[in-house]
Amino acid sequence: MKMKSKPDGEKLLSPVWTHLTHAHIVKGKGIYLYDDNDNKYIDFTSGIGVVNTGHCHPRVVKRIQEQSTELLFGQMNCVIPSITMELIEKLNKVTPDHINRFFLSNSGAEATEAAVKLAKQATGRPNIIVMQGSFHGRTHLTMAMTTSKTLYKYGSTPFPSGVFVTPTPYAYYYVWDEDKTVDFCKKQLDLVLLSQTAPDETAAIIIEPVLGEGGYVPIPRSYLQYLRKVCNKYGIMLIIDEVQSGFGRTGKLFCFEYSGVDPDIIIMAKGLGSGLPVSAIASTDEIMSKWTPGTHGGTYGGGSAIPIAAACATIDAIFEDNMLENSTQRGKQLMSLLKNIQHNYPVVGDVRGLGLMIAVEFTDTDGKPDSATCTKVVQECLKRKLLLLSCGTYKNVIRWIPPLIVTELQIVDAVNIFRESLNDVLSQKQ
Ligand code: PLP
Repeated sequence: MKMKSKPDGEKLLSPVWTHLTHAHIVKGKGIYLYDDNDNKYIDFTSGIGVVNTGHCHPRVVKRIQEQSTELLFGQMNCVIPSITMELIEKLNKVTPDHINRFFLSNSGAEATEAAVKLAKQATGRPNIIVMQGSFHGRTHLTMAMTTSKTLYKYGSTPFPSGVFVTPTPYAYYYVWDEDKTVDFCKKQLDLVLLSQTAPDETAAIIIEPVLGEGGYVPIPRSYLQYLRKVCNKYGIMLIIDEVQSGFGRTGKLFCFEYSGVDPDIIIMAKGLGSGLPVSAIASTDEIMSKWTPGTHGGTYGGGSAIPIAAACATIDAIFEDNMLENSTQRGKQLMSLLKNIQHNYPVVGDVRGLGLMIAVEFTDTDGKPDSATCTKVVQECLKRKLLLLSCGTYKNVIRWIPPLIVTELQIVDAVNIFRESLNDVLSQKQ
């Protein structure tokens, strides 16, 4: 084959990727990213909730380096790498007592697919229920399960069938209080089970304990408890998607711990590998033993040793560096600073969240979602080298997800940049 003449920069990239910034990043350390022009960015995206331990956490880097000279790959259908057993044992320690079987894969979407396939086999039922505003991934099944934005599904139909949608208890959206919203959503779920998918045809209900891409909405404890009750009544699996909310993001290792609800299947990814691709599902012995050997798997899942070593080091780092406590304390600080801004700026309609998974929702004077202001504030922050991402169906929510090692001073700096940016955007409007 003839060598091509000269690469044409970013034109070589598929346009399907969107980018918050076109900065070419060469280094990451802690909460900072550095580009090839020596610019330093404060990363409050954590790569969409991935680098919870911060960029290049020394313990993670060391473990990767050590692993790289020992074993790169041991295919799970051929052998069982020792490092894989180490990770499984660590996951077993940090999950609830009834959870004692684990399956590994590479991405959140892959783990979600695995969870649904497991639920279908364990129950012998074909359908699942997802929440309005959900995001579960980009494969065809996980797109069918995603209802946060039509863009994600655009041009890709048809999708697998058997996916039904029930409302999320998003009180600010409904302009109701929490109790009224939860009551409404309970009734709607009952209705879905009466009118769309019969209980004995429903394999699973799947929920993100903080709705992520759909707008950073913490799900009230009472609603999660109701889901558990309904699932128990009908033998439906309760799948908790902790892909974005897991690994300390909300101040607990897993967000469902706040609710006292025991999931049947837990999905994990993102924060598990500190940037390396590794994901997992966890379930009970009783459920997993119904998964017929050979009906699921993949070349790399559980066998690619470097991501697995990174996951082992990530779990150690989270506990040894007290990241759960820091996530809780810095979360409280961030929440109170942002609430203070909400108090003084009517365009900030709502501030909500758990730990370091916090939303600022923009609303115009008519109470409608204000995506224009949200987008401009993100851009102004970017000019000041603070990386923040938006989310929400209406694109009017800024999500605050700094690495869990963020300090008190770094939070203050970021909020000051945000306030300055907001002031600039509002003064341009006048
Ligand atoms: N589930 C949730 C809650 C997510 O936020 C995401 C990704 O953002 C996924 C699943 C899909 O994960 P991945 O992008 O690793 O496939």
